[in-house]
Amino acid sequence: MDILYAPWRSSYLKFGGKKPKDTSGICPFCSKLELGVAYDEQHLVLRRFEHCVVMLNLHPYNAGHVLVIPYQHVPELHQLSCEVRGELMEVASAITKMYQELFACDGLNMGYNSGKASGGSVPAHMHIHILPRFIGDTGFLAALADTKPISFDINAVYQQLKSPFASLEI
Ligand SMILES: [Zn+2]
Repeated sequence: MDILYAPWRSSYLKFGGKKPKDTSGICPFCSKLELGVAYDEQHLVLRRFEHCVVMLNLHPYNAGHVLVIPYQHVPELHQLSCEVRGELMEVASAITKMYQELFACDGLNMGYNSGKASGGSVPAHMHIHILPRFIGDTGFLAALADTKPISFDINAVYQQLKSPFASLEI
């Protein structure tokens, strides 16, 4: 599926304009998170918890498409300790509740990609995708042209979500 980023292309290009590729062996998540909180806004980090972090997906399917990422660099959910996995699930659960209230969405998608065949772009560092869904959000472009138009500014979405995520209780 192609992605058509229409009204905010220049700001999108500021972040590279390409899907992150892990060809250098440097993890795109670890490399951003290791820079520290001073760079969180630049990297669209919404909230740091004890064992995981919530970051807006740079290649979203919908506004509010976030990634819940453990600090621990492992490919599989089962490789995390119970404590880390527990926090990951508590954070994911709290986000689904918040999104239902905040967006009044008609549904949600939540999941993670495991292994090369799953289609994940960063298979070496497991992460959970969460995104709100709305009836009709798959339009004719997606159905007929295999292209999904994205008509929102990801930086504006970040600013809108900062406060709700800052007060998210788990
Ligand atoms: Zn990593």
